[in-house]
Amino acid sequence: MNNIADLENILLKLAKKAVQQYHDLHSLDIKKNQFTDVDLSTGLGLNTTIDYILELDDYISKPFSPRYFGLVTGGITPAAFAADWLVSLYDQNLILSTSDSISTKIELAAVEMLSEVLGLKGYVGKFTTGATSSNVNGLLCGRQYISELQGYNAANDGTKPMKILSAAPHSSIFKAASIVGLGHSSILSISGERPDQIDLELFDSLIAKNPNSIVVITFGEVNTGSLPKLETVIHVRMMCDKYGCWLHIDGAFGLFSVLVNPTLVEGLLLADSITGDCHKYLNVPYDCGVFYVKSNLKKYLIRSLGTTAAYLDSNAGLDTTHGQDFTIENSQRFRALPVFATLKAYGKIGYVDLLTRTCEFAKHMALWIQASANWEILADCEFCIVLFRSRKPEHQTQAGNVALVRSLNATGKVYFTPTVWMGKPSIRCAVVNWATSIEQDWETVKSVLSEIHEEE
Ligand SMILES: *Cc1c(COP(=O)(O)O)cnc(C)c1O
Repeated sequence: MNNIADLENILLKLAKKAVQQYHDLHSLDIKKNQFTDVDLSTGLGLNTTIDYILELDDYISKPFSPRYFGLVTGGITPAAFAADWLVSLYDQNLILSTSDSISTKIELAAVEMLSEVLGLKGYVGKFTTGATSSNVNGLLCGRQYISELQGYNAANDGTKPMKILSAAPHSSIFKAASIVGLGHSSILSISGERPDQIDLELFDSLIAKNPNSIVVITFGEVNTGSLPKLETVIHVRMMCDKYGCWLHIDGAFGLFSVLVNPTLVEGLLLADSITGDCHKYLNVPYDCGVFYVKSNLKKYLIRSLGTTAAYLDSNAGLDTTHGQDFTIENSQRFRALPVFATLKAYGKIGYVDLLTRTCEFAKHMALWIQASANWEILADCEFCIVLFRSRKPEHQTQAGNVALVRSLNATGKVYFTPTVWMGKPSIRCAVVNWATSIEQDWETVKSVLSEIHEEE
């Protein structure tokens, strides 16, 4: 699947299709030179504007490149790229499931295809704008579930305080806590010595003191990529059942780890709700996340988000497939199409290959760093992220580390992002791009990492 030539072919094909579609449209009688004026009231004109936008290329990041290792960004597979252009061309609104468009059926199919590839049985899912939005859904479900246990209806009455227990939650959990009316201070840490790992003793005591809480497990921590142990998730599930708690798993990119380690799915299946990000490891364009909730618990999502208005002709609260009843948006993009296309094009085997190749790259790099005199690994590489820093004291300060990342990136051959891990300024290399491989990219990365120290 990592053949860059595919991209050109598919884009040429697509361009023809798009042009054809445009020729089918009624056109207005535009007078010559009508749009050459730079005055905004008339506009710059299409060609000038597009040329101008194309020139911006020098000033935008390049996540398309197989050696872009920043954040956890992911590239775009040719199939997803082509489909994304068609999303604009088709311009569907998935607010409602209507009989004049197959778009919501394709979305349902795409969710089911993704569930099948990941091995997620017993859940209903919906595409969202991203993991943050999915995390809002997760907390909304938890809030609704707990309110009903306590004899009120949070969606109707507003919420009473409740706690969120989590180890190293992603910053979006804080944002989600604020959005659903629980607030940042509702989040209690259950971290052990290593922030990304749950201290079970601490967890046991906090959950006993705070029954009817929401528990959030991070499945793939952003700095280290670490994944929770199955025994830990089993214990957390058992305690959630005992104390009437909702278990949400934030697996933005970690969700896809099941493709390289199928036994991990057992932990995921214990969650009441799950967050995933398709615009990360699935390599579809922004913005596309996914939210899963256990089929028998779907009612908590719909009670939280279901909408009615006479003109919308929806049936909120009933068994519905209307997009508006599953997400915080009403009108919504046909973001399912790139997911549908990429899964149909490459299948499970393609994604197992993507995951295997990128995780191998990360492990290869981590081993090289471990053996190097100038670099130091800060956490075992168990998935797709390499967390490291320079051994030189001048690079170990916040400013020194940031300057080092800048000079690595200035080579134009790699792109990393800085972070701080357990007080140590460090560098993250997230390998999540469909086109990356050891054969094609490692020598370049190695030479950049070697030469930066020699130059000084
Ligand atoms: C990236 C990420 C998020 C936020 O995702 P967005 O797509 O930016 O909203 C949430 N949780 C985890 C674990 C992440 O890695």
